[in-house]
Parts: sequence; C-alpha cells; structure tokens
Amino acid sequence: MSSPERVVVVGSGMCGMFTALALAKRGHEVTVLERDPPPPEGSADAAFFEWNRLGAAQFRHPHAFLGLMCSLIQSHYPELLEELYAAGARRVDLPEMLPPELKAHYVPEPGDEKLFVLMCRRATLETVIRRHVGALPNVRIRNRVQVGGLLTDERDGTLTATGVSVRSRDGEQENREELHADLVIDASGRSSRFPQWLAKLGLEVEEDDESAEIVYYTRHYKLRPGEEEPPRGDNRGAGDLGYLKYGVFPGDNGNFAIILCTDERETALIEALRDPDRFDAICRSIPGLEPWIREGKCDPTTDSFGIGDIRSVWRTFVRDERPLLENFFAVGDAALRTNPLYGRGCSTGVMHAQILAEVLSEAADPVTRAQAFHDRTQNELRPIFDASRSEDRSGIKRAMAAMEGRGLEKPDSFKKWFGVAFGDAMTAAAREQIHVLRGLLRTFHLLEKPGDFLKERRIRWTIYRYMLRGRKRNASRRLQKGPARDEMLERIAS
Ligand SMILES: Cc1cc2nc3c(=O)[nH]c(=O)nc-3n(C[C@H](O)[C@H](O)[C@H](O)COP(=O)(O)OP(=O)(O)OC[C@H]3O[C@@H](n4cnc5c(N)ncnc54)[C@H](O)[C@@H]3O)c2cc1C
Repeated sequence: MSSPERVVVVGSGMCGMFTALALAKRGHEVTVLERDPPPPEGSADAAFFEWNRLGAAQFRHPHAFLGLMCSLIQSHYPELLEELYAAGARRVDLPEMLPPELKAHYVPEPGDEKLFVLMCRRATLETVIRRHVGALPNVRIRNRVQVGGLLTDERDGTLTATGVSVRSRDGEQENREELHADLVIDASGRSSRFPQWLAKLGLEVEEDDESAEIVYYTRHYKLRPGEEEPPRGDNRGAGDLGYLKYGVFPGDNGNFAIILCTDERETALIEALRDPDRFDAICRSIPGLEPWIREGKCDPTTDSFGIGDIRSVWRTFVRDERPLLENFFAVGDAALRTNPLYGRGCSTGVMHAQILAEVLSEAADPVTRAQAFHDRTQNELRPIFDASRSEDRSGIKRAMAAMEGRGLEKPDSFKKWFGVAFGDAMTAAAREQIHVLRGLLRTFHLLEKPGDFLKERRIRWTIYRYMLRGRKRNASRRLQKGPARDEMLERIAS
C-alpha cells in the first residue's frame, strides 16, 4: 500500500462516496465536503421525501443500478451489499430478467453471478452508502460546506493542487476556510465548477460535449396494500415508440417510478408530461405501462417532474502526457456524463472511483498517476461513452423522422443495409436464444466493452442464421406496442 495521504473529496454523491470508500479502505485520511445537508434520520421514505438534495438535481429521478456497479459492490464491499438488502434494496438476478420461454430452459453459467441489478430508490442507496462510509474511522463527511475554489502551488513552472477554499454557515454567521490536502478530488457532479476554476489558472480542460436533445419526466407511485408488481410478459415495461421512450423502475418497499422521455422539440407532448393526470393518461395508453398504473393498483406519491440539459460530456485533464494540475483528479459526472436513459452514470462513476483508488496505490509520482488514470479511463470508459453517444445520435434521427412524419432513411450502401439487418436479427435472436441475450446483457450491464460479445463465434453464427429468416420477420420483433405519434398527439389535444 502507498503511504497514507490527506485527501479532500468534493461532493458526497454516488462517486464521492465510492471514492471515499475505496481510498479509506487503502488507509488514506479522507475529508468529504458536501454542500447539501446529511440524510434525515429514519426510513427510506424519509430520505426520499424529506432529504433536501438541491446539489444533485437528478436525486429524485429513478435510477437503475446495472451489473457493473452491483458486481463491483459485491466483490469489493460485500458488507455494504448486506446493508442495502436490509434497507429494502431488491436483488434481481439473470433468471428473473428472462422472458418466460427462456427462463424455462435456463442453466447457470460462469459469469452469470455478475449479471444482477439492485432495485431501489437512489435516496435509499445513497443513505445506506453515506452511513456506511461516514462510520469509517478515517473518513470525515462535512455537510453544508460549499467549495468555492482551488488552492494551488507553483514550483518550477508546475502547478499543484494543495487544497480548496470553502464556505460554511453557522446560523447567520458565514465562515470561510482554506482546507489543505495532498490530493484534491472533484466528485461534484454534472455542475462541477472545477473546469472554470482551472481556466482561471490558465488551464483549459479539453471538453467533448454534445446534447442528447431530450427531456426526461418522472412520476413515482406506490403499490396499494395487497397489490403485486405485474408479471413481466410480452409487453415490456421499457421501450421506444420513436417519439417517446418509456420505462418502469421497480423500487424498494412497494415503490416504483415511470419515466417518459421525448425530444426537446415535442412541445405539445412536453406540456402534457408536466401535468400529472395527463402523464398518467399517456402511461395508460402504452400496453407495457398500463398494468402498473391501472385503476386501483397504486397511488401516485409525487407529481410528474422533469429534467433537461441531458448531455454527453467527456473532459480530459491531461495534455502532452502531463496533468493540467498535479494532484488533482475528477471522477464521475465531473469527468464524464452519458445520457441517463441508458442508466450508466452510477456504474461508470463507481468504476471510475475504483480505477482512481487503484492507480493511486500503484504509483506515488503525480505525473505517472495522472497519466495512468487518464489511460485507464480512456481504455475502460471511453468505449462506453462513445457507444452512448452513438445511440443518442440514432435516437435524435428516429425522433426527427417521427416528428416530420417520415420513415427512417433507407440504407444507401450495402454496409449500412447489413448493419441494420444484423441489428434486427440480433434483437430477434436475443428474444429466443439465451446465449445471444446473455451476450447482449453483458454489454448492457457494462460487464464488458460494448459489442465484445460479438467476438463469440457461436453468437455471430446464430445471428447470421436469423438474418436468413428475412428482415421483415426480424424487424417485427423490435416493434414496441403503443400509439403512433399522431394518435398520441390527438389524445393529448382532446
Ligand atoms: C435524470 C437522470 C436520471 C439518471 N438515471 C440514472 C440511472 O438510472 N442509473 C445510473 O447509473 N445513473 C443515472 N443517472 C446518472 C447518475 O445520477 C450520475 O451519473 C451520478 O449521480 C454521478 O455521481 P457523481 O457523484 O459524479 O455526481 P452526483 O451524484 O451528482 O453528486 C455530486 C455531489 O456534489 C455536491 N456538490 C456539487 N458542487 C459542490 C460544491 N461546490 N461544494 C460541495 N459540494 C458540491 C452535490 O451536492 C452532490 O451531492 C441519471 C442522471 C440523471 C440526470
């Protein structure tokens, strides 16, 4: 182990907590600074309804916790997993994710143990993690402390981070302090101010930034006593109608949420999504959602509410194999963001925190550390970022085609035609062939690089065999049931 260092982590969201956990386990002295208050005492419901979490705008939107994040917790922090179960988080393993026809013939295989998800509200997960991390002897979490700037030192033309300046409140009294540390870690999320603070020092963070051009609406519900979640049947609880994406997020303790997501130019639809009654009416018109909110099944626990500014952002903190600022690292959303529709942010963030902790243990020299962190981030997370962005671009094309009332452009080359036909065949095969579905799920849950499963010969041959059945038949397996856009707009108008 490297010698213990004093580390300041800015932000106690998902990645701040996992960074603190990973570093504390390696013996470092960690101070976490968080602008928001701590979670309220009490149950998961108290955390969800009462916790004032202005610093994390997505806090009350539902979160899927994918296999990557869950299996990292399982292998590194099994005691935390037990605490999550005790708080009501449900573990859903591969057999439960399978459609009935595949479930009947399921035989476990090595690797399946990583293919599981945790179902609970983010408030539940954050509260448990926070209490777990806060109880570690070498972690101090300070709440209601706003970080307002970076402290640096310049020696021989090299800038090094030496701490942060903070503001806190004690009743009417505002206090300002400087906190010094060996390492400064930015885990302050999607609205991180560090790039601006670095720019003021003349350090330009290279940024790759693209809008997903969507808005995202949520409403939460609770099953009535005696009611059970609908069985997973033919009408899947998540899908894409072209102009509208939808999904059910089963949670803990009988709670669940529904998200509806549309192009930011769909003004009439957005107007309707803002109104809780019309939000429900839209859900009832979609066969995959209707069984969840049919009359008498559940009660809403919130209004519908939305979030915008959904972007893919990738920031680079190294130039010419040197860090912009030594002893400074950014993790999670502060460094890379993907469209929340894919549910990847917490998994990539927890992985990022893990990579950072490992890199810091392996070397002491700031330049080696920065370069190693950059290389591993690039190697392990960039493919996920690139795949997400390319999915966003196709989503924008589909939404534009739906809005303009035209079909998608026909492939104008054999290569493009083959790509589309292969995709349709893969979707169809995954519905009926468990080895294809398993491969797709490994990509979906980020347990391997996107598309790596296609290197498996057996999977490729099965997909080719499905291609021979013809595109029409395969494409029909893709279609999600639900009203066409015109019909939906008519319903909304009336
Ligand atoms: C609508 C929506 C839905 C999502 N759904 C999913 C999903 O289903 N699955 C998934 O894996 N991911 C999802 N994500 C992404 C996920 O929420 C983020 O990737 C994840 O929260 C990133 O963690 P983080 O710690 O980097 O940032 P955050 O969790 O946002 O935490 C940042 C923390 O820093 C604090 N902070 C900020 N500035 C300061 C400051 N100056 N001083 C002190 N404290 C500060 C904030 O208060 C906050 O607590 C979703 C995102 C959105 C927007």
